[in-house]
Amino acid sequence: MKPDYQLLEKELLTQLAKEQIYTGEAHCLAYGTDASFYRLIPKIVLRLNNLDEVVFTIKTCRSLHIPCTFRVAGTSLSGQAVSDSVLITLSDDWRKHNILEGGFKITLQPGVIGADANKYLAPFGRKIGPDPASINTCKIGGIATK
Ligand SMILES: Cc1cc2nc3c(=O)[nH]c(=O)nc-3n(C[C@H](O)[C@H](O)[C@H](O)COP(=O)(O)OP(=O)(O)OC[C@H]3O[C@@H](n4cnc5c(N)ncnc54)[C@H](O)[C@@H]3O)c2cc1C
Repeated sequence: MKPDYQLLEKELLTQLAKEQIYTGEAHCLAYGTDASFYRLIPKIVLRLNNLDEVVFTIKTCRSLHIPCTFRVAGTSLSGQAVSDSVLITLSDDWRKHNILEGGFKITLQPGVIGADANKYLAPFGRKIGPDPASINTCKIGGIATK
C-alpha cells in the first residue's frame, strides 16, 4: 500500500476496530465489482457501524486528500459503487425506520432495503416514490443518491 494509504489506515485505527478495516487482496478484489461493467479495486474497504464513524472517516480521508465512495447493495449500473481508493460499506446496524404522521412520512436509514420500506408502509396504503426494478435488493442509501 502507498504511504498515504498506510497513514490513513493508521489514523483510522485510532477510532475503528481492526476488523472494520479490510485491506486483504481477496476482500478488495470482491468489492472491485458492482452491477456495472467497471472494475476498480479499492485499496481499503471499511465497514462502518454508526454516524460518528462515518463522520470521522470522511474527515480523516479529507484531511489526507484521499477520495472515499459509499456502497450499499452495489446494484447501480454506471460504476457509482466502485472505487480504486476507499470504499465505505455499512454494517447491518443501519436498518432502522420510523413511520410518522400516520404513514404520510417515513424516515429510513441507508441500509434499509427498498422493498422492506414498502412493506412498512403497506398497512398505510403508501409506498416510497422511487420504484427501481432492483427494489428487492437495493437499499435506501443508493436509492436516495440515485
Ligand atoms: C436488475 C437491475 C434493475 C435495475 N432497475 C432500475 C430501475 O428500474 N430504475 C433505476 O433507477 N435504477 C435501476 N437499477 C439500478 C440500481 O439498482 C439502483 O440505482 C439502486 O437504487 C442502487 O441502489 P444500491 O443500494 O444498489 O446502491 P449502490 O449501487 O451501492 O450505490 C449507488 C450510489 O449511491 C451512493 N451511496 C450509497 N449509499 C450512500 C450514502 N449513505 N451516502 C451517500 N452516497 C451513498 C453510492 O456511492 C453510489 O454512487 C437497476 C439495477 C439492476 C441490477
